[in-house]
This record gives sequence, structure tokens and C-alpha cells, in this order.
Amino acid sequence: MHEIGLMQSALDAVARVAREHNLERVGRIVLRVGLLSGAAPEALQFAFDALRAGTVAADATLEIEIVPARFQCQICKAEFELAQFEFDCAQCGGQLALRSGSTELVLATVEGEGPAEPPNLAGAEQAGVFTGPHAHS
Ligand SMILES: [Zn+2]
Repeated sequence: MHEIGLMQSALDAVARVAREHNLERVGRIVLRVGLLSGAAPEALQFAFDALRAGTVAADATLEIEIVPARFQCQICKAEFELAQFEFDCAQCGGQLALRSGSTELVLATVEGEGPAEPPNLAGAEQAGVFTGPHAHS
């Protein structure tokens, strides 16, 4: 599967970023995927789940953002930015032609998981001390 190789490269990049920023673990990854990359989001997610074990991103969540491509109707010339392939113009039903779009996968965000929250705060919340911002007004 095409996406396995793409995701392997993405995870290599994540590992590099994590090393550069001294992140022990990665909590969140955002991948921007061009509509024309040929990579299906579900397959990328599947590849991520297959590959992440044992990496710095083992517990990370993956978010995939589709970068839309630009289409133009060949009849009425209306232009559309679409995050999925469509073939019929929404205005006149004419045939859409692809104009431009990204074929790339871009690693947009890598968020490390910081140190655990201050234990006293976490404990207080669990104990119900913070019932809301106006609890004592
Ligand atoms: Zn049209």
C-alpha cells in the first residue's frame, strides 16, 4: 500500500522533530494531505496505526487535513475549492476540470506531551474543588 511508505516517511519526520525539540513523546500530529497526493485519509490512519508502535508517536493522535484542490466548470466557468473529487458543477451540472492542487503530504504540527499537569491541580479537580469559575462569587 502506497500510504505505508508515505506514513513511514511522515513518522521519520516526526521522530526528527521530536529529537530536535527534546520531546520524549508526541501527543498530536497534524498531517496536511493534498487532495491530489493520491493518499486516502483512511489508509493513512490505518498505516499510522500499523507503524506507530515503538515510535515516539506510539500514543499520539493523528489528525489529517485535506488540502483542497481547485476545479473549474467547463460550461459556466465557476471555480470551486473542493476537498474531495467531484465531477459535476454544483451550479449548472457541467463537467468540472481540475485546475490545480497540492500533491504533497506536509507535516503541519507535531505537539509533544509536556510534563504531567501539576499534581495538586489534578488532585483538586478530581476532588471537586473547582466547580466552576464563579463558584465563590
Ligand atoms: Zn457550471
